[in-house]
Order: sequence, then structure tokens, then C-alpha cells
Amino acid sequence: MRIGQGYDVHQFAANRQLWLGGILIEHERGLLGHSDADVLIHSLCDALLGAACLRDIGYHFPDTDPKYKGIDSKELLRKTMRLIDAKGYRLINCDCTICAQVPKLNPHIDQMRQCLAQIMQTDIDCVSIKATTTEHLGFVGREEGIAAYATVLIDNK
Ligand code: MG
Repeated sequence: MRIGQGYDVHQFAANRQLWLGGILIEHERGLLGHSDADVLIHSLCDALLGAACLRDIGYHFPDTDPKYKGIDSKELLRKTMRLIDAKGYRLINCDCTICAQVPKLNPHIDQMRQCLAQIMQTDIDCVSIKATTTEHLGFVGREEGIAAYATVLIDNK
């Protein structure tokens, strides 16, 4: 078995949609990025790649490549799962934490879990997503952006 961890941050910006955990969330601002800026999926991809010792998301899907401009991060997760599969690994479980002062994420957690479980072709019970504020401290607390952490366990197929 192998463990992997991932971390990502994106800043809030006006006139952007807020994509998180593969779903669109109603909010007055979205996250800024070359792709749809789904910070949770990006941290999850990095955790998967890390577990398989396959470098990182920027190595496989560079944000300088016009091919990835505005891309749906669910597609990056699908591609990442193909890399994991090709190296002979399967996902056991993942545990993620989203750090956001706004918006309230608890009502959306189960939909995110369902969405990510479907993409990773695993049971919803293997996909844990947690949300926390940072008690108004730091860039998250000042509502400047969202951070996400992910930990995954993989095993040989
Ligand atoms: Mg990112």
C-alpha cells in the first residue's frame, strides 16, 4: 500500500463560477485559475500522483498549455486515474479537507462525494470530504481564497 498527500490553493475572483469537488456552487465569486480552478480536485490529483510517485498535476497538465485552458477539472481527475491505473494501482480511499470561510459547504458535501466517487469508480464510502473555516484567520479567513488538502491510499491491483 502507498499513501499520498496533496495541497492546493486558488484565489477568489469576480466573474468566475465556483467549481468545487466537481460541482457548481452558487456564490458571488468563483476561483481564479487556468482551468476551472477546482481546488479540491487539484489537491486530490496531486495526492493520487504522489502516492504513485508520478510527480504532480502541473507536470502532467501544465497551466501554460492552451489545451488545458478552462478545462473541467473532472477531466484532469479522469486522466489522473488512468495514470494510476496504468502504473498498476487502484484507489483504496481518500480523505479531503476544504478550508473555506465562505460559502457554507456542508450542504454540498454529499453531492461532491458522489461526483468524485463516480469519476474514480469507487464506492461513495471511500470518498471522505470535510469542510472547515479557519476562524477568520489567514487568507482563507479573509475570504481571499480556498485551500484544499487530500490524502489517499492506493494499493497494487
Ligand atoms: Mg490548482
